[in-house]
Amino acid sequence: MTVAEERIERLEELAAEAAREGNEERAKDYVRLARRIAERHRLRLPRSFVRFTCDACDRYLVPGKNARVRLQDGHVVVTCECGHQARYPY
Ligand SMILES: [Zn+2]
Repeated sequence: MTVAEERIERLEELAAEAAREGNEERAKDYVRLARRIAERHRLRLPRSFVRFTCDACDRYLVPGKNARVRLQDGHVVVTCECGHQARYPY
């Protein structure tokens, strides 16, 4: 694992922690920073990161708190507080 990958992983943990503690703005900062590092190093973000972050507003998503998760036609539909929806097959 490279240093950049480790930083991204750490930032994901920090974002999750901040979001769970209700510190959404700080969580967004971690999410944005992780995205920037991935971009700069041309790394793919971990699947868990992609699933639990909003593409539109960079929120770290906590189902039941700032995100709604529904099953629909073989997809998981995650709706962020900002209204953005992401769909993943399962
Ligand atoms: Zn959002």
